[in-house]
Amino acid sequence: MEFDLIDRIRARCDLARADVVLGIGDDAALLAPPPGHELAVSTDALVEGVHFPRGAAPRDLGWKALAVNLSDLAAMGATPAWALLTLVLPQADGAFVDAFAEGFAELSATHRVALVGGDTTRGPLAIGVTVHGFVPAGRALRRDGARVGDLVFATGTLGDAAAGLRCLDARDAELAHDARVALIERLDRPMPRIAAGLALRETASACIDVSDGLVADLGHVARRSGVGIELDARALPASPALLAAFDESARIALQATGGDDYELAFTVAPDRAGDMQRDLARIGCGATRIGRVVEGGGVRLLDGEGRDIGLPRAGWEHFS
Ligand code: ADP
Ligand code: MG
Repeated sequence: MEFDLIDRIRARCDLARADVVLGIGDDAALLAPPPGHELAVSTDALVEGVHFPRGAAPRDLGWKALAVNLSDLAAMGATPAWALLTLVLPQADGAFVDAFAEGFAELSATHRVALVGGDTTRGPLAIGVTVHGFVPAGRALRRDGARVGDLVFATGTLGDAAAGLRCLDARDAELAHDARVALIERLDRPMPRIAAGLALRETASACIDVSDGLVADLGHVARRSGVGIELDARALPASPALLAAFDESARIALQATGGDDYELAFTVAPDRAGDMQRDLARIGCGATRIGRVVEGGGVRLLDGEGRDIGLPRAGWEHFS
């Protein structure tokens, strides 16, 4: 039964890479990292009832389980290469595994990620993915490089995924259908910013992906870099769907504290900002200036008059 499931996964996630000496099927995979590079390795779990609701579409789960991991590689400026997949399933549900593997394969094809192994076992529904990527030695984008005077930017738009979650929860009848669909799509099918991470390797001083909420995640950058960060609430980038669906204060709360966007938030020295904008424009990625790095510590969200905006809760905390 377990082997039937593994075969189903292997048949659908069959992307081949020359640097995979031995993939699924032995006690361990044999992999050949390129010389002169460091391996960037990251893992993330999705648990039913915690990270996704009961009954979530398996195809979306397959996509998202890989996407949240690739987002961590993007934030390091790494090129993805290999993945491991641990599936914990309540029962041997072939149809679930087929759809899950198809969603996983869809995204892995985009980024040429080979699935090289994993584990399949019985238990409450949970998914673990580990990804490996390459970065030229010493060139990774880290959280600890922000300097006082740097500018703070974010790719894309913020708050959409959290707004999508609210659409699912509230079934707000007033919300326009198109806006709902767009917001829920951001929640279910996040697009890891791999190309942006690679481009930012040249210019950014620090980088993180927005998984738990902008303020919470930039708090990690501030702490690791030994600096403070001030954000302009009115500058936070919003999608047309978010603008259509929420008033200003609800919108700012979603943008500042909503998780699951998987955009990149990063710092850049002022004299590198022009090159950064040019490099991102070249790959079709928008970036918005949202704040600045200052002396001190922590992250402050400021209104148009420079007053602190109180936040209900600074992001997603796993054990709260
Ligand atoms: P072992 O007993 O050595 O742990 P398994 O029977 O668990 O081996 O797995 C057999 C092979 O299938 C291994 O190569 C393992 O990496 C791979 N595998 C198991 N589960 C998965 C999965 N969910 N996705 C990808 N590969 C898997
Ligand atoms: Mg095993």
